[in-house]
Amino acid sequence: MTPPTLPVTPVVLQRVGVYCGGNDGARPAYVALARTLGQTLARRGIGLVYGGGRTGLMGAMADAALAAGGEVIGVMPHGLVEREVAHRELTHLHIVDSMHERKAMMASLADAFITLPGGIGTLEEFFETWTWAQLGVHRKPMGLLDVDGFWEPLLSMLAYMDSEGFLRGNPRAWLLHEHHVERLLVALEAFVAPEVRTWARLSET
Ligand code: AMP
Repeated sequence: MTPPTLPVTPVVLQRVGVYCGGNDGARPAYVALARTLGQTLARRGIGLVYGGGRTGLMGAMADAALAAGGEVIGVMPHGLVEREVAHRELTHLHIVDSMHERKAMMASLADAFITLPGGIGTLEEFFETWTWAQLGVHRKPMGLLDVDGFWEPLLSMLAYMDSEGFLRGNPRAWLLHEHHVERLLVALEAFVAPEVRTWARLSET
């Protein structure tokens, strides 16, 4: 039997989910970008959904959004509350049971996803959320927010995967890439999801 096709709906950005490093990274530009994103979301009245930590880019972004009067929702598994230093001044901190629950809750709360520079945790979250789009679990756009060419090696790898015939179904269509926060937000809002069938539901991932 053919799986159902999800309806096409415009992207209204009430909340954006952000994946980013729990460390500052080597260049001041990374923390600066995280702050700009937090501030811009708050000024535009867009809520921030993120991992709930207070260190690195996560903390810098959350603090900037809170200082600008924004809504900031953290989602953290209880096992990581101590280790990741949970941010205690958020609008709301959801403590969940597992990493999977964290990603599922972030994905359901957010209307789109932005990934900032980060490490393997950031990439894991980014890739899993992206694969959910490919499986028809959601129809929400993904954006890579870049600074100093951080995402160029990944984009090269993706282009290579594509040229080698591994990106079937055009998953790149879900992925935007920008260096400017405002431009990325405008692009996310203008995103029209490609037709995709529902091959899995969140409970099946
Ligand atoms: P990192 O990019 O390694 O600094 O990690 C950034 C965030 O990714 C942190 O909040 C980590 O808890 C989170 N993270 C690390 N591993 C995973 C995982 N397996 N699934 C989901 N999130 C993860």
